[in-house]
Amino acid sequence: MFEGLSDKLSSILNGLTRRGALTEEDVNAALREVRRALLEADVALEVVRSFTDKVRARAVGAEVVKSVSPGQQVVKIVHDQLVEMLGADAEVISLNAVPPVGILMVGLQGSGKTTTTAKIARRLKDRENRKVLMASLDTRRPAAMEQLAVLGKQVGVDTLPIVAGQSAVQIARRAMEAARLGGYDVVMLDTAGRVTVDEALMVEAAEVRTATGPHEVLLVADALTGQDAVNTARAFDQRLGVTGIVLTRMDGDARGGAALSMRAVTGKPIKLIGTGEKVDALEEFHPSRVANRILG
Ligand code: GDP
Repeated sequence: MFEGLSDKLSSILNGLTRRGALTEEDVNAALREVRRALLEADVALEVVRSFTDKVRARAVGAEVVKSVSPGQQVVKIVHDQLVEMLGADAEVISLNAVPPVGILMVGLQGSGKTTTTAKIARRLKDRENRKVLMASLDTRRPAAMEQLAVLGKQVGVDTLPIVAGQSAVQIARRAMEAARLGGYDVVMLDTAGRVTVDEALMVEAAEVRTATGPHEVLLVADALTGQDAVNTARAFDQRLGVTGIVLTRMDGDARGGAALSMRAVTGKPIKLIGTGEKVDALEEFHPSRVANRILG
């Protein structure tokens, strides 16, 4: 049977005879397991290092509280540190700006960007009673534009009519104008994705950003891509100034490592998670739940 990190830490540390405080030796033994578990959960190496350093600083010399075992105590320190690094409070999408509020959706092709755009639009419409307009800026892939239109019908959210021959910036401007005229609260701009981060993609998205001044720039990233997701997040953030991350495929086998890595590397909050293919499979991000998942 798979043994979770919590069990492993308990079995290592509970064998110790009780001494007043946790020694560096005790903590190092535990940290070897923590490091292994984080790497198994696909947390980036640099993040594993800074994480274990922080846990060491908190744990060495900590008095063992009488009511708990040393194992439980270290599990708690690891849990608390995970929650802190994941971002203690769940953040929500901010609409606190003059309408129509722009939300720019960026990310690699296949990350779930278009599906997530529709999921968020649906949520804003149903839960917050907002009038939302969606527009696809993927001029190279007519199928992506069609996909957004189909999803729009499915969730009951308007999509900007497709006009052939326009550039991404032209479509984005037209979307903002249509939203102004039509009294929309929110405009969701679904930018083109590529299989890898490329220069043309970044230049185009940056131009759209400048032209429309979105209030949120949400990076959609696939939780299953692990370490790659970190490099992607860094590249998008450097070029576009990401305001939040939506992590998709959290329904899969991912143990949450990508969440920890992306948050640590970009410092940007994870705002929502995708938990399935259906349009209602979108949830708030709860750091404590992800911490428990990593702890196993
Ligand atoms: P895009 O190329 O980034 O726009 O990606 P799509 O939105 O077309 O999504 C690619 C595939 O991933 C589709 O089959 C989606 O249904 C699926 N997908 C998106 N989000 C999730 C998620 O959170 N969980 C699962 N299991 N599948 C997802």
